[in-house]
Amino acid sequence: MEYLKCLYCEATNHKNARYCGRCGQYIALEAKKSLHKSLAYLLAAIIFYIPANIYPVLLTSKFANAQGSTILEGVVAMWQSGDYPVAIIIFTASIFIPLAKFGVLFYLNYTLARCQTQNIAKRVMLYRLIELTGPWSLIDVFVVLILVALIHFKNIAIIPGIGVSSFALMVVLTILSANVLDPRLLGEECEKR
Ligand SMILES: [Zn+2]
Repeated sequence: MEYLKCLYCEATNHKNARYCGRCGQYIALEAKKSLHKSLAYLLAAIIFYIPANIYPVLLTSKFANAQGSTILEGVVAMWQSGDYPVAIIIFTASIFIPLAKFGVLFYLNYTLARCQTQNIAKRVMLYRLIELTGPWSLIDVFVVLILVALIHFKNIAIIPGIGVSSFALMVVLTILSANVLDPRLLGEECEKR
């Protein structure tokens, strides 16, 4: 690569520039640092995915005995009571999309670390897809919080469980993992790393 694009203002800079000539942001391409950070965030996200799925997201406390249900139990319960659209949305947002993102981020990290030069267009598309879905990942944390707010007024108290906090952390860590992965690496030759 002869030139270095600024990720903030898209200005074209000299390939060895450390700071953008137009907006002054730090733009040096640091492949190893970017990949290590991304992988670390990804592993942390995968770790939090486990408590997000085995601990309850909602605790219903009625007459002092608290009962909880995990994401999957919630999906099954909604499906059985006929709320198919909600069940499908929750399943997609909290089980399918996070797993797909882990897969894509791992694939991008792996292929970049191994200096693979094939499928650049496909990998750029996957990266864009991850960036696009990022802001939507907290959808079911919102669902839980709305439920908590709605039902709090009745006699039954509903409190968010450990599952929700783990899920929210997992989502933030996944976004960070995608964020620190420098997309300019996808078009970069590998010898310089
Ligand atoms: Zn700039």
